[in-house]
Amino acid sequence: MGAQRLDGKQCASSIEANLLLRIEQLSHQGVVPHLAVIIVGDDPASHVYVNSKIATCKRLGIQSTHIELPSNIGQNDLIKHVIQLNEDESVHGILIQSPLPQHMDEEAMTDLIDPTKDVDGFHPTNLGRLVQGRLDGMIPCTPHGVLRLLEWSGVQLRGKKAVVIGRSRIVGMPLSLLFASRGIDLTVTVAHSRTEDLAKVCAEADVLVAAVGIPELVQPQWVKSGAVVVDVGINRVEDSTHERGWRLAGDVNPSVSEVASWLSPVPGGVGPMTIAMLMENTVRSAELMSSNE
Ligand code: NAD
Repeated sequence: MGAQRLDGKQCASSIEANLLLRIEQLSHQGVVPHLAVIIVGDDPASHVYVNSKIATCKRLGIQSTHIELPSNIGQNDLIKHVIQLNEDESVHGILIQSPLPQHMDEEAMTDLIDPTKDVDGFHPTNLGRLVQGRLDGMIPCTPHGVLRLLEWSGVQLRGKKAVVIGRSRIVGMPLSLLFASRGIDLTVTVAHSRTEDLAKVCAEADVLVAAVGIPELVQPQWVKSGAVVVDVGINRVEDSTHERGWRLAGDVNPSVSEVASWLSPVPGGVGPMTIAMLMENTVRSAELMSSNE
């Protein structure tokens, strides 16, 4: 029997339904949540991501400002845009789409965003709260999406062993902190590119999350029978059987479904959850800012 599907599309639409109610509430106070997205350069995948974020804003009635800048723009020009958005009281969320061109310092640019508008949750103030075990800051969208998807699916987490493969600032590290935080209570191992005998480490996991960027790295033999497996990876792989010549693959080999109890698909798993959490952070920021007025 195959694993049950961790259905990110369905979970995200239930989150959107709740957000619509909150957006309606805000409208009674004359507030429209407003997300500003800055994209620098012409990386095609980044434009696809930004367009789907903007489309979701439209669907929910969240105002969006889409700032497209050429790749040869100087860092100071980008700084000016960020400062302007920080000062604009109508803007509740600011996102700088990653990756930035080589000549820019992505972390320094994130540091400039007002932490209350940092809907990506990458500002040191927000990541710092996560380290302190405080879940009241802006939680990074993909880790938060993974957690919400597991909770929505009814997966029991408390006291279980989790292995997170990947230690990035965007996914692996904040997810590990979130998993280990009080109230969620997983026992977490963070695996990465220097981990010895990764297969053996993974085989210990009740909950295994792959956030690596290597297509179908995780094999069925790595997975404990009945484990819950979350595939964060989004990789383009060549495939001549597809009309466009490529397909999307996760970091988990789909045959893991024969061993796992739950598995998230790619696409349709963590991807829609990431966008839903971005929308939730934007609405939350609008609620907090309007209650402080
Ligand atoms: P990253 O490149 O910043 O980090 C990759 C991590 O994997 C690193 O910590 C590295 O140590 C680890 N790693 C690399 N090779 C390894 C190996 N052989 N064995 C074990 N660990 C190894 O990537 P990221 O930004 O964290 O993204 C990871 C994947 O998740 C990518 O495929 C990305 O496209 C995808 N992603 C998906 C979403 C989503 O919404 N679904 C969001 C963000 C990222």
